[in-house]
Order: sequence, then C-alpha cells, then structure tokens
Amino acid sequence: PIRTRFAPSPTGMFHVGGARSALFNWALARQSPEGRFVLRIEDTDTARNRPEWTEGIIRALAWLGIEEGDPHFEGPYFQSAYAEQHRQTAEQLYKEGNAYYCDCTREQVQQRRDDPHLGYDGFCRDRGLEPAEGRALRFRVPEGGPTVVDDLIRGRVEFDHDAIEDFVIARGDGSPLFVLANVVDDVEMRINQVIRGEEHLSNTPKQQLLWQALGQHPPAWAHLPVIVNEKRQKLSKRRDKVALESYQDEGYLPEAMVNYLMLLGWGPGGDREIMPWEEMEPLFRISDVNSSSAFFDEKKLRAFNGEYIRALSVAEFVRRCQPWLEPEVAPWPAENFDPDLFAAIAPLAQSRVAVLSEIIPNVDFLFLDRPVLDQQSWNKAMKPGVGEHVLTAALDAFADPHLSWRAADLKAVLEEVGAQQGMKLGKAQAPVRVAVTGRTVGLPLFESLELLGREAVQERLRAALA
Ligand code: GLU
Repeated sequence: PIRTRFAPSPTGMFHVGGARSALFNWALARQSPEGRFVLRIEDTDTARNRPEWTEGIIRALAWLGIEEGDPHFEGPYFQSAYAEQHRQTAEQLYKEGNAYYCDCTREQVQQRRDDPHLGYDGFCRDRGLEPAEGRALRFRVPEGGPTVVDDLIRGRVEFDHDAIEDFVIARGDGSPLFVLANVVDDVEMRINQVIRGEEHLSNTPKQQLLWQALGQHPPAWAHLPVIVNEKRQKLSKRRDKVALESYQDEGYLPEAMVNYLMLLGWGPGGDREIMPWEEMEPLFRISDVNSSSAFFDEKKLRAFNGEYIRALSVAEFVRRCQPWLEPEVAPWPAENFDPDLFAAIAPLAQSRVAVLSEIIPNVDFLFLDRPVLDQQSWNKAMKPGVGEHVLTAALDAFADPHLSWRAADLKAVLEEVGAQQGMKLGKAQAPVRVAVTGRTVGLPLFESLELLGREAVQERLRAALA
C-alpha cells in the first residue's frame, strides 16, 4: 500500500507551495483503502523552529481537510524524537564502510581547490580516521557510474557520481544533516512515495545512495515544479503573498483554495477547472503533473472563490461570515449588530463579494452609528450644488407618510428627483449612496435603504446636509 508523507520544517509561515505538496500527497494516500499520509514535522533546526509555526502547519492542514481522525492520516510525528535512530544509522554507515570521518576545515578544503565551487576532494576518504568530537561524517559516494533517479514527473534524471561530493551526513558534534535524518525517518516510516518541491531534486541522488547503502529499496520520487508569480519569479515570502493563513484571513474558502492549489501543475483534464475535492481526488495522477513551472494567479483564485461563495446556501454563507462579525473584529459597536438584518442583506452581499472579508465594507453602514464618510467620495458625489439639491429633494420625498418604504418605490422617488434636476438615476443615486453608506460603490442602493429603514436614512441625509 502507498505510504506518502509530508515533512515540513516549522521555520516560517505555512506556504501555499507546501499546501499544494500536502494535497498531492493526500490525494494519492486516499486513493487506496490502505493508503497513508504521514505528517512528519522536521523540527531539528532548533535555531529556526518555533512552536507556533508547528501549530500553524497543523491548523492550516486541518483547514484544507487534512487532519487527524481521518483513517488515511498518520502522525504527526516529530523528527526531533528520532535523534537516537539518526545517530545509530550514522554509526552503522560508518561501521559498514559507507561513511568516513573527516577533520578537514572548510578553509583547508577550499585551499586545496582551484575552483571554489567544486565540492569536497575526498582528502580523508582513505585516512581511516576514528570517530572523534569535531570530526564530520561523510558519505562515501561510489566511484564511477551515475545514480539514476526515476522521477515520476521529470522522467529519468542522471547524476554522475563524479559530480557528487562525499557529502556530510553528520556534523562534528554528531548531529545529523537534513539528507540523512530525512532518509532515516522515511525508511523508519516505510515511505514508498516521496512527493516534494523541485528544490530538493539535488538532494535526491544523495538520498537514493543512502537508501541503497542502508539496504533499502528507494521510494518512488516526484519533484513538483516551482510556483511562480506573474513575473515568472519563484514565489518568495519576501515578495509575494505566500502564507496560507493570509488567504484564510482574507476570506478565501478552504474548498476554493484546495481546488485552486490542485491546479498548480495538474488538472483533471477536459476544460473543467472548478471541481470539488471529492471529484478531483480519484482523478489525480502524479505522473500527469506538468514539469514546467506553475503560475500562481491570484486573480484567478479570487474568481474561483467568488464562484464557491455563490454556490453556498445563504444560511451557509452567513455561517462562513461569522468570523468577520465577531464583536472583537467587526468595526461597529457590538450592541448595534442585528443578526436578522445581516441575514436579510446577506443574499445581496453573497452575489457580489469575491472574498468573505469584503462583506464588511458592504454591510458596515447598517451597524455603524454613522457611516465612515470618505472625504474623496463625498467631494465627488457632492459636486457644487448638485448633491445638495438631490439630498434636499430626496429628504422631502422620503418624508411623505404615504410612501411605502420598499426598494421599488424608493427607486421611483429617486428617478423622479433626478428627473427634476435633469439627471439620470445613476447620477442622482450617488449623493444618496455616499450620505447613507459613506461610499461610492456598494450593494444595490434601494434594497440597502429599505433595510436601513426610513428614520436612519433621513437622519443620515440630514447629517450630510448639515
Ligand atoms: N523538511 C523538508 C522541507 O521542508 C522536507 C523535504 C522533503 O519533503 O523531503 O523542505
């Protein structure tokens, strides 16, 4: 049975690239009843690890639907718990002649080389040094021939042994390097399928040699193409929005995110792109992943999210909005919030927002004591004279006790007011919208006025005229 793993290092915010790797692993693990996805937190870099990043990874994976409790999920394991196995394996490699101790300093290695880019020259390979504090352990790369990595995405990749230096597997203090610890854990956890980012491809021949030296059959390898921004630059945390959490905070739905991430290098075929996880999962094949870089198109992701939002039932949409409506985060006084009023405006908002956080600027006018008046919008809507005339006339008309306070009638009133001023409805609407909502764009105005209620609308028009 297939055993995949996801092995993040908790050294920063959880990245969209990591999320894609996790999902590809997850899809494969779930395709067979016995398939397993092992989560292993590679927490051995104590200088760069932080517990909140570990928690962030676990939380983000759960948000994507990858979590404990699912029969295909195994772990989380923590690499730091396996230090003893790492040490023992290093010793085994030494005892069996697959590794040797080396006391060369970096400077010495460099001095012996004309070209500083060349690696270690094998100086200690046959010196037979005993283990001792300060001596690094190096893997003895076989002479001659290549190591062939059969990558499921990139095909056959050959690495000449002449070009692979005798790499360090344990430092002078005995601590293992990534190449070793990662293999030891994969062996221990019986991983037979490794799917990870392309940046690890250069480690793969070394790791395959380690698997073989340990008498193990190496796993199937698959290296995922890099993810690039619109300038075709590799996504970077300094330049691009890469933290999964920032998408979550903005109000992306996990199902839209999952859908979009699955398309970074893969597609279900045909021209369908919007497809729920349940349908994608059985279709996913690692060998169908494209080897060229994948463009992370935030605009497209937004469009996807909008579609997913519109596909929710209104009740579900309201439920998903809750995090933004909590008293600690919402911009209005808590006592002003009226869930029924929110439920009433929700369908209007649902058809317009692309991300959930956008509901706030769309509905805040309902719950704020007075709208946040944006001066620029105000100046624009209130071009000399015009706005004032509209507001005065609208106030007059709204005061008519026979006027039903329904969107259709309110619209008729404003049409009438506009006509008197020689204006189209769109133009006449602008000052009213700004006075009532504080903004020049928003939800359909007349429904908004209806929901806000006659008194509040009148009060805001008066305030705007004052
Ligand atoms: N801890 C490594 C990383 O985060 C794991 C690489 C791998 O999947 O083998 O890049």
